[in-house]
Amino acid sequence: MKVLVAVKRVIDYNVKIRVKTDGSGIETSNVKMSMNPFDEIAVEEAIRLKEAGRVNEIVVVSMGAQQCQETLRTAFAMGADRGIHVLTEETLEPLAVSKLLKEIVQIENPDLVVLGKQAIDDDSNQCAQILAGLLDWGQGTFASKLDLVDGKIEVTREVDGGLETLWLAMPAIISTDLRLNEPRYASLPNIMKAKKKPIEQKTPEDYGVDITPRLNILKVENPPSRTAGIKVANVNELVTKLRDEAGVI
Ligand code: AMP
Repeated sequence: MKVLVAVKRVIDYNVKIRVKTDGSGIETSNVKMSMNPFDEIAVEEAIRLKEAGRVNEIVVVSMGAQQCQETLRTAFAMGADRGIHVLTEETLEPLAVSKLLKEIVQIENPDLVVLGKQAIDDDSNQCAQILAGLLDWGQGTFASKLDLVDGKIEVTREVDGGLETLWLAMPAIISTDLRLNEPRYASLPNIMKAKKKPIEQKTPEDYGVDITPRLNILKVENPPSRTAGIKVANVNELVTKLRDEAGVI
């Protein structure tokens, strides 16, 4: 069984985001970048399936600038087997990512495609769903537990009212939620081994996909800064302020 995992290079989750002075986007130069945390969970899950003897190959895909190869190497150091890098300096919207993934899926024929539920840079939460639509495959999004039983996938999803369990026929698309697992740290020997694992370099043109953006970002701005709070002397004053000034009770 083969698993394909999509890994995005994003601004590290510890970095305080800065908006460009001209309001055209987010400052990314000289900023620490890492693998999208939900994608680390996706890689970890694929590795656990491999360790359990259910999967024999893990292929990781990353799309974007040359440095995406570092993200692929991080996935290799965790345990992925080989990588595909789709090189482009253009902004990739979720529709373009999904169309590229569809082409790759049709060449690679994986049994399972695992994505993060969302990329923490643009918080789109769209790729897994669009890809499932384009391929006409079943989807188990926001998976918090995953199991392979009798050739089917049992996915537990965290929904508003509790937990939902789905059975999916393969091939299928999964997107990972935070509680699915805790990704491992790469060991030094595996970091060394990762250097030798193969990366196939491609471009969007190789797949015949038009990645022209469909959206026009008008402006990016910081949220308004919070104003200082006040201290009230007692509960009566608090209730009066909530009723008369804030109008919330
Ligand atoms: P999004 O729908 O943009 O929030 O992203 C959801 C998931 O799609 C991510 O967690 C990744 O697994 C995948 N993805 C999005 N963009 C890329 C990219 N440029 N390269 C590889 N995978 C991506």
